[in-house]
Amino acid sequence: MSVRTRFAPSPTGALHIGGARTAIFDWLFARHYGGKFILRIEDTDQTRSTEESIAEILDAMIWLGLDWDEGPFRQSERLSVYQSHVEKLLETGKAYRCYCTPEELEARRKKAQSQGKVYRYEGKCRNSFDRACPEPAEGLTTGLKSHLENSSFAVRLMTPEIGSIVVEDLIRGTITFDAKEIDDFIIQKTDGFPTYNFAVVIDDVTMNITHVIRGDDHIANTPKQILIYEALGYETPKFAHVSMILGSDKTKLSKRHGATSTVAYREMGYLPEALVNYLARLGWSYGDQEVFSKEELVEKFTLDNVGKSPAVFNPEKLLWLNGLYIRNKPAEEIAKLVIPFLEKKGFQVTLDERLIKIVESLRERAKTLVDFAEAADYFFIEEVKYEEGAKKKFLTPEALPIFETLIDKLSSLNDFTIPEMQRIFNEIIEERGLKLVKVAQPVRVALTGGTVSPGIFEVMDILGRDKVIERIKKAVSYISNN
Ligand code: GLU
Repeated sequence: MSVRTRFAPSPTGALHIGGARTAIFDWLFARHYGGKFILRIEDTDQTRSTEESIAEILDAMIWLGLDWDEGPFRQSERLSVYQSHVEKLLETGKAYRCYCTPEELEARRKKAQSQGKVYRYEGKCRNSFDRACPEPAEGLTTGLKSHLENSSFAVRLMTPEIGSIVVEDLIRGTITFDAKEIDDFIIQKTDGFPTYNFAVVIDDVTMNITHVIRGDDHIANTPKQILIYEALGYETPKFAHVSMILGSDKTKLSKRHGATSTVAYREMGYLPEALVNYLARLGWSYGDQEVFSKEELVEKFTLDNVGKSPAVFNPEKLLWLNGLYIRNKPAEEIAKLVIPFLEKKGFQVTLDERLIKIVESLRERAKTLVDFAEAADYFFIEEVKYEEGAKKKFLTPEALPIFETLIDKLSSLNDFTIPEMQRIFNEIIEERGLKLVKVAQPVRVALTGGTVSPGIFEVMDILGRDKVIERIKKAVSYISNN
C-alpha cells in the first residue's frame, strides 16, 4: 500500500509550533514517498474543542502550505463508526460494560493513592454476566434486567494480564511495555463518546494510515492502541515518535520562551517558507545544510535522519533564516506581503513601483516584515520625527548653508535622477571642501529623522523631489528656530 500519513490535531487552542513541526514531518514524509496526507480534527473532547481553534488550525496549515489530500475529517462526525467497533468488541467478548460509578472509582483511586500505589482498574465488571452478550443473560429477573439497561455504563477493553507489548518505533527503536502496567481501560465513555485512544485507532484503521508520525508525548498511549488493533484483528501501522521541542533552558517549549502559536509568527512578520525550513530542521538533519527549499525538503526528507534527542528552539536562527528568505524572494512578492503590515501602522499603500523600490532599498537590513514596516516609516509619514541624538548632532547651524545650497540646486535640476543628485552632492563637497558624510548625514536626518537608512540617493529617489525639498526646508526652519 502506498504511504498514508495523517496529522490529527485536537482543536483546543492555536496550532502550537511543536504541532506544526509534526504536521511538517507527516506532510514531508507523504510527499517524499508520493503518498497521501490526511488531516483529521480530533474534537471528541466536547468541552475543550472550539470552532475557533479549528479555523485557526486550518488557517495555519494553509499559511504553511501543508496541503492535505483528504479531510479535514472531524471525529465528532464519526461517532457511529466508533460505536460499531465498540459493538463488535462487545460481541466478541473483547470488551465489556462497566457499571462502576465515578464515585466508586474515585474512592478506589484515593485508597490506592493513600497506599502509595497507582490505581489500575481491578476488573470488577470484567466477569459480570453481560460481558459477551448484548442481552442480559437468561434467568435474570426482569427488575435486574431493566436496571442494567437503564444504567449508564462505560465500555472497557479486556487487556492481557501478563506478557509485554512491543512498539517497533521507526525513530526510537524497540520499546517494550509490561502488560501489567495497563489496566482494562475505557474505550467508550458513559456519554457514548469514544476515548482518545479508541477513536485514534479506529480512524487510523479506517483511513488506512500506514505511518503514524506524532509527538513522543503519545508514546505511553501506543501500547494501549496496539491492544485495540489486536482486539479488532487489524494490522498495526508503523509508528514514529518525534522528540519534543525544548526552549533554550532545556524545558518544554512554552510561552515563557516566546510565541508558540504558529500564526503568531505570521503576525510577527515571518515568511511561511522560513518557518517550514526552520521547523523541518528541528530534529531532522541533512548533513550541515541549513537552507532548504520546500522541493528540496520533499526530496531529502526521510525518517532516517530524524534524531532521538529533543531539539532546542533557537529564535535567533529562525530570525536569520527569515532574513535570508526576505532577501532572496522577488521584491514584488515581499512588497505584497508587507502591505498589511504598513496598513496596520495606518498607512495607505498600493502595490506599485515605489513600494517595490522601498522593499529593494530596505531588504538587506530587514529580518522580518514587521522590521520592514518599521524601517519604511519615513517613506509614508507626513512629518518626519527627528531622533534626539541625530538632531543634536546633525541639525546644527553648520548644516544650514549646505541645506540652502541643496534646495537651490535641486529645485533647478531638469532631471531628478540619481546621477544628477550625485553630481550636485559632488559640487557641494568640492565647493566647501567637505567629505561626503558631512553632507549626507545632515540630509539623512532631515529626510528620515535618523542616522541609519539605505543610500541617501536611493532615499531621495523614492521620496521624490517635492518631498525632499519640503523636508530639507523643514530642517532649515527647525535649525533656525532652535
Ligand atoms: N490529537 C492528538 C494531539 O493533538 C494527536 C493524536 C495522534 O497523533 O495520534 O495531540
